[in-house]
Amino acid sequence: MAEKSPPQLIDRFGRIVDYVRLSVTDRCDFRCVYCMEPDTRFVPHPEVLTLEELALIGRAFTELGVHKIRLTGGEPLVRRNVVKLMHDLAALPGLRELVLTTNGSQLERLAPAIRAAGVKRLNISLDTLDAERFARITRTGQLAPVLAGIEAARRAGFAELKINTVILKHRNEDEVIPLVRYAAERGLDISFIEEMPLGVIGDHDRAEAYYSSDRIRADLETVFTLLPSTHSSGGPARYYRIAETGTRVGFISPHSHNFCATCNRVRLTAEGRLLLCLGQEHSVDLRAVARGQPGNIAVLKDAIRAAMDIKPLGHEFNLAAKPLIFRHMNATGG
Ligand code: SAM
Ligand code: SF4
Repeated sequence: MAEKSPPQLIDRFGRIVDYVRLSVTDRCDFRCVYCMEPDTRFVPHPEVLTLEELALIGRAFTELGVHKIRLTGGEPLVRRNVVKLMHDLAALPGLRELVLTTNGSQLERLAPAIRAAGVKRLNISLDTLDAERFARITRTGQLAPVLAGIEAARRAGFAELKINTVILKHRNEDEVIPLVRYAAERGLDISFIEEMPLGVIGDHDRAEAYYSSDRIRADLETVFTLLPSTHSSGGPARYYRIAETGTRVGFISPHSHNFCATCNRVRLTAEGRLLLCLGQEHSVDLRAVARGQPGNIAVLKDAIRAAMDIKPLGHEFNLAAKPLIFRHMNATGG
């Protein structure tokens, strides 16, 4: 008998979707200037998916061929009992990788439990090594606990740790070399992200603060030798390796090197909206499906399969125009 081929999610453009980012909360202990506003209003608790609903939706995705799940937010580690969700998701047959993006503020306390729950890799956001700048960029955050959290994560034995850095002109562009040195000294990877125009922000003009990946690369090349790498982490980053240290440096460049053609992912917001593209509003309300027939995984899978037909070709980010997307990154699930 011919073997049944595994299920796959395929969109209209032939792209296979095998990666889901689950936002477990839109709340956060920081208020990063590029991500959200100081007075951001959060989704009321009853409208946020429960951990059980998240686990069921995660299972539905893995039964449809998704093999990588990233937990994100908001700050995923401020959600109560999130480690229990990690255990449930990591145990799903078919899931190869459960990973997490975090601002690091809770890692000193939680790193061992997260590792024990089955999370393999962490992305930790760090835009500066200067305490005052850190406070200015995050508005409510402190550098020292994050650095301590990174050390706790190193001790906890994750397979890979990566630093994520958003570079803004005149704020932290002079730190690309110190940040790479910091990563290299600790055996960490680092990725630089171009700021994306998600939501209106009052702190700065995003076009004025734009600092391209190419400029970052040129800055690094004044000190290091960057060798192109074929490495892929299954996300949008293009990678290089620093010859002198072996450090992997990624560039996530929505403006200068559009990555939509190879998009393999979708996002679920904390209130259960399945976003088919980071930079478009096409979405499906999976919370309505999950709450309409609680526990019924078949209807969830039907809704997810059908959603592939509205996955758009790509984003249309334009830093010079008013943002087309009104939701901020914390509400999107970065
Ligand atoms: N709170 C966690 C953190 O900061 O790592 C996870 C969620 S956060 C939204 C995920 C990533 O998105 C972070 O690395 C953050 O720097 C990045 N980010 C937030 N707003 C962004 C924007 N407007 N453009 C580009 N990256 C952004
Ligand atoms: Fe919070 Fe992450 Fe957004 Fe910063 S980037 S405000 S840490 S969700």
